[in-house]
Amino acid sequence: MSLYIQDYSGRHCILSVAKNAETVEILSSKGFNYIFINDEGTQINIDNVRYNVQIKNVNADALEDFDVIEILENGIADIIYQRMSTDNAFVVTMRCNSNCIMCPCSERSRKHGFISSIERLKDMVMYTPKSAEHITITGGEPCLLKENLFEFMKMLQYELYNTEFLMLTNGRAFSIPGFTEKFISNKPNKMRVAIPIYGYNTSTHDAITQTAGSFMQTVQGINNLLQYKMDIEIRIVVSKLNISYMQQIVDFIVSNFKGIIGVHFMAIEMLGNAVKNADKVWIPYGHIFKYIREPILTIIKNGIDVQLYNFPLCTVSKEFRGICKKSISEYKVRFADNCDKCAVKSLCGGMFESTKRYCDFKPNPITQEMMI
Ligand code: SF4
Ligand code: SF4
Repeated sequence: MSLYIQDYSGRHCILSVAKNAETVEILSSKGFNYIFINDEGTQINIDNVRYNVQIKNVNADALEDFDVIEILENGIADIIYQRMSTDNAFVVTMRCNSNCIMCPCSERSRKHGFISSIERLKDMVMYTPKSAEHITITGGEPCLLKENLFEFMKMLQYELYNTEFLMLTNGRAFSIPGFTEKFISNKPNKMRVAIPIYGYNTSTHDAITQTAGSFMQTVQGINNLLQYKMDIEIRIVVSKLNISYMQQIVDFIVSNFKGIIGVHFMAIEMLGNAVKNADKVWIPYGHIFKYIREPILTIIKNGIDVQLYNFPLCTVSKEFRGICKKSISEYKVRFADNCDKCAVKSLCGGMFESTKRYCDFKPNPITQEMMI
């Protein structure tokens, strides 16, 4: 299998995949750059191909036509859009203005990671097929794109008008009324934002973000967005630090954020800061559910959608398994050996590869009889 890249001269570039392409001319007529993949022996006209390279870290067999691939200056490639996946994400920066104690990113990446240029954002949008159903916008903190965020939003609205977007943000930038106003006037029509609340007041939330003033800013940001009837889901990342006051957090949310569309409880991904601070944040799966049962019922009683993210089904009471979502990206999902005996494996979201490595989780396979 060979990869042929047109118009690639060792610079950073974003390309669309055209598998088993027969000629370069047809595919280059749109003015795009393409990556060509061809089985050995198949005819391909590469007369116009100015550069070809073997990319070692991407399995060419895994690529499909219209996938989008990014090649960095050092020749390392990342797949940034997969046509066959329902779990695509545009990572627009690794930096963040918070420093959450259980963040799956490292402190180094949050302080010194990249921030996308407007050219990179444009390329990501232009190469993504218009048929894309769902894309998550994430970081780091996407609002650190500042003015470029609005330009990016406008491109999403006009170029990917059928796509649904979910933006993961700490919500702090929306405490600035002018920022919120500009965001609302540029954002795509089909967009939801997901914002985390970790505590029920300044001291409990800011102890987790390790950032003074973050609670007040996030609360203000959510309320500013709600004034524009923005679709908002609140995420509660459950850790040893906040497990004992889940009810207070939920009471705060239902009393203060009228109009939100969902609350999601999230189990930790044990990477980055989360591993570094494991003794402060880690709580075994099996200990969590008894603390969130009543808070879940409170949310339901208030007519708000509730979901559990990143929880293996066997760690949750039978009657609540219907609100567990298969939320872990496919390439990160892992199961234990005895999960093969489980009757609901195909419905279970498994666990993060990193968390499995960290906690040596022993699942309890669910039998047909246990489901009755
Ligand atoms: S968890 Fe999110 S908000 Fe917190 S530091 Fe990490 S990227 Fe920033
Ligand atoms: S035993 Fe494995 S497959 Fe079954 S619910 Fe638990 S984690 Fe999921």
